[in-house]
Amino acid sequence: MTHMHVAGSIHADAVTPAPKWLREPDDVNALMPGLWSQTVERGADGALRVGGVDVRTIAAEVGTPAYIMDEVDFRARARAYATAFAGWEVYYAAKSFCSIAACRWAAEEGLGVDVCSGGELTVALRAGVNPATIGLHGNNKTIEELELAITAGVGRIVIDSFIEIDRIIELARTHGRTVPVMVRVTAGVEAHTHEYIATAHEDQKFGLSIATGEALIALERCQAAPELDLRGIHSHIGSQIFDTAGFEVAVRRTLGLHAELARATGQQMPELDLGGGFGIRYTAQDQPIPPAELAAQLNEIVDHECRALEITRPGLSIEPGRSISGPAGMALYEVGTVKDVTLDGGAHRCYISVDGGMSDNIRPALYGAEYSATLADRRSAGLPRLSRVVGKHCESGDILVRDEFLPDDVTPGDLIAVPASGAYSRAMANNYNHALRPPVIAVADGKWRTLIRRETLEDLLGLDQG
Ligand SMILES: *Cc1c(COP(=O)(O)O)cnc(C)c1O
Repeated sequence: MTHMHVAGSIHADAVTPAPKWLREPDDVNALMPGLWSQTVERGADGALRVGGVDVRTIAAEVGTPAYIMDEVDFRARARAYATAFAGWEVYYAAKSFCSIAACRWAAEEGLGVDVCSGGELTVALRAGVNPATIGLHGNNKTIEELELAITAGVGRIVIDSFIEIDRIIELARTHGRTVPVMVRVTAGVEAHTHEYIATAHEDQKFGLSIATGEALIALERCQAAPELDLRGIHSHIGSQIFDTAGFEVAVRRTLGLHAELARATGQQMPELDLGGGFGIRYTAQDQPIPPAELAAQLNEIVDHECRALEITRPGLSIEPGRSISGPAGMALYEVGTVKDVTLDGGAHRCYISVDGGMSDNIRPALYGAEYSATLADRRSAGLPRLSRVVGKHCESGDILVRDEFLPDDVTPGDLIAVPASGAYSRAMANNYNHALRPPVIAVADGKWRTLIRRETLEDLLGLDQG
């Protein structure tokens, strides 16, 4: 009996290898709320439309894989942050999706742009973003990158090490400029998704530690240097964060340091940056905080700490990246093969192979990121079937969507759309297996245009000197 029972339970697990959070949908064609950019809908014939454009048109005109950016949605998210965080400065973290148009959209909606390399800085400058509203951070900026930032006149360089303080002082002298800087600190908070860890020390490469006193020494050094205009402390605690508990700890520790420096030197720094990392919905598990709610909570946290420390409130800023670009984008793929795989215990998993993969979205392979997907080129009369959407690369970890219910009639030639692909997809795209990085197509008001064209084999072979 016992044996039967055990076998039975294993069998029951194997029949439904879906994760607990994944519900089998009543209607396999339904679009889950909060997952898609705001103009996405199923057209009369069941195909997805975004920005008033049928995704089949994009597939036919530019091919697949392709990223599609919903301009209206991107702008609305940027604007929502600007509105909710009135009185703050909001910087779009360009590393999440860096293109000339994206930087321009952010700037037009009233945001600054946060960059972390000379390349990203060049894109922002090319977009015509006012340099005074650009911030440059990074733990190992080259002399050339620092020089570009200084001569362009960026609004802030975020210092990440003692060595960099000396480098910037020297460059400031060379160029006869006073350089506005912030100091990146580690507040001993690491926030990822649904949890955060508060510790005294952090074993990672970014910033200078508050706990060891290094951050204070760095701030004092910056404040004492006439070549530098010390704007304040910069803190970024993680990514894909869904509550403000981690920020509360970070605010307490950074404002504590802010007040300590003011007491020691009699001068209060004018600013404080709390970084980005606000979470978005990739699957039904994720419940993001709307910007208005986030702003209300952060304002309360900051006010509370300022009162407790008896200091005036500094000028505040945040740097959302993913939460602006992520939900605005989807990735579009064409199905190449469909394979039924029998699992231990007799269950089945349907592997749907598409024409992209870890070269255009490495996040699932890199850190187990989860995504959702839907059939995009038609409405299906099929039943939901637990499926795994995989790429075409030579790695078994080349998974795009680990678990999703897709119709059981998905067939080669169908289009599959993966929502929330606007951030860290094109930005992290690579040429593994000599894959050509897909284009980014912007849609708005029934029209589409190419923001970034598809890479060609000639582009790649042009690099190969034979
Ligand atoms: C990556 C990063 C951001 C943006 O993070 P998101 O998760 O995209 O919001 C903001 N600030 C700094 C310093 C970063 O490194």
